[in-house]
Amino acid sequence: MANELILIIEDDDSSRKLLRDTLQVTGYRTLESVTGEEGIRLATEHRPSLILMDIQLPGISGVAALQALRSASDTRAIPVIAVTASVMSAQQNELTRAGFDALESKPISVSGLLRKIRAKLDAPGVTP
Ligand code: MN
Repeated sequence: MANELILIIEDDDSSRKLLRDTLQVTGYRTLESVTGEEGIRLATEHRPSLILMDIQLPGISGVAALQALRSASDTRAIPVIAVTASVMSAQQNELTRAGFDALESKPISVSGLLRKIRAKLDAPGVTP
């Protein structure tokens, strides 16, 4: 089943639309935020099964938002996939160290991203 709730935190309108359309057509339910601050609030309130996190955001960064999610017991276990414009391996290592569960580089590969999402949702330890 692919009806899990996924939170998209992304300030770029076209990227957010692509993610939303891709997830909804696959059967996922979606929530959206354009800032990390609002994303943290939505994650706490709605407990999504997974979060897609842009890194460059207008307020706090995606890395800071991840740290806030990981420091709160309600949101600590939610898998978070970084969606980043950077393809530099140095920054990819930095994001992995920051604790993201997976990385997806822009331009987004729809089939690759859907595989990563499914793998995280099906991983042991992820509560439905
Ligand atoms: Mn951005």
